[in-house]
Amino acid sequence: YLDYFHTRCKKSKEMITEAKEHIPGGVQHNLAFNHPFPIVITKVDGPYMYDIDGNEYIDFLQAGGPTILGSNYKPVQEKVIELIKECGPVTGLFHEYELKIAKEVKKHFPSVELYRMLGSGTESVMAAIRIARLATGKKKIIKLGGAYHGWSDQMVYGLHIPNTRGFEAHGIPGKCRRNTQEAYPNKLHSLERVLRFNRLRGGTAAVIVEPVGPESGTRPIDKDYNKNIRELCDKYGAILIFDEVVSGFRIGIGGAQGYFDVKPDLTIFGKIIAGGYPSAGGLGGRKDLMEHIAAGLQSGKKRAYAGGTLAANPISALAGYYTIKEIERTNACEVAGRAGDRLTKGLKELIRHYDLPFVAYNQGSICHLETAGTMFTKIFRLGGMKEMKARKHMMEEMGAAYMAEGLVTLAGSRMYTSLADTDEIIDEGLNRFESVFKNVEGV
Ligand code: PMP
Repeated sequence: YLDYFHTRCKKSKEMITEAKEHIPGGVQHNLAFNHPFPIVITKVDGPYMYDIDGNEYIDFLQAGGPTILGSNYKPVQEKVIELIKECGPVTGLFHEYELKIAKEVKKHFPSVELYRMLGSGTESVMAAIRIARLATGKKKIIKLGGAYHGWSDQMVYGLHIPNTRGFEAHGIPGKCRRNTQEAYPNKLHSLERVLRFNRLRGGTAAVIVEPVGPESGTRPIDKDYNKNIRELCDKYGAILIFDEVVSGFRIGIGGAQGYFDVKPDLTIFGKIIAGGYPSAGGLGGRKDLMEHIAAGLQSGKKRAYAGGTLAANPISALAGYYTIKEIERTNACEVAGRAGDRLTKGLKELIRHYDLPFVAYNQGSICHLETAGTMFTKIFRLGGMKEMKARKHMMEEMGAAYMAEGLVTLAGSRMYTSLADTDEIIDEGLNRFESVFKNVEGV
């Protein structure tokens, strides 16, 4: 497959080779799937993408999740173009769509009493943590093993870089990690142990979770897990932060909190919140907490500073607003969810038929194809970097093979489905998966 990939994607290879002289590693984006090299995309349309060599792909990457309506969704694109013609990309002042999107988010997320747009998921997590610390007067933040909450100094540990246990590593001083702790996912006693430990040492400011499971569902969680976490947070006086960057407006229009019927104190938004347009971030939650961001303006509270030159630009506000409206109108979460079910069911059949060491599972339109067996459980232990590397290598090799057959996935192990994925598209996708499974050896 790798040889085939090299000939089929010749022009991409040439451009990436040139890019390496100007751009570190030849890639600008950590999602640019770079095994054996990234492909250069020139056109996208609904479920399809086309590269510079003229190859066509079914797009199960969806830019990592923001385009649940399908890539380059025309009704939103038209509104964005109208807005740019009227008022350009940004003014730094207020635009009516900032109000409209805040009201729209509140409508679907009853836990959100006040809403603030921010530049990205990472920044929104940073702001949430600041608020939690100011509101509680405590420092410790607990996350789950294998979870991803952006790449800030205090949160990036575990999935992408090792837990350094307080030592300097990867350009991050050990101190930055000192107040970030991890608990084992799905094990309440592990979380409670950390909460109890902290109680005698200054307490816990917040517990932050992806409510569909760490790394947004790669590690599935039990049905009542979020409810139980809510209870533990109340018992120990910690703020509960739901990171709904992936699950918000995807698992259902009311996010995972609607799906699981659990009310967090603060919610992080990203991705779909700007419909694939730039500056995709947002933070919403309890009024008394959110007021910390506006301290000095509205309340006598201590200020949790949050900034961003392009945060809340009119394009992201308008694109997010119309994206949510279109999700509502088209039932996109349910349609994409059914497509995810069909894809996963088909993958399960293929895995059985070709006796592959994989497991396929999904939560609606978030679909996973993972290595089975012990590796699957081990990678979610805290640390576990060796297993993670081995898994990553295997899934990346498979990902390259999928691409050679015209399927773009997230690193060979995650697929997002969208409103554009009809039964025919999913079945065509499954045919392409089957072509790979028929031809690979040594998996
Ligand atoms: N949280 C989760 C659950 C995410 O999946 C991501 C991005 N993949 C982030 C936070 C960070 O968001 P951003 O990339 O917008 O900074």
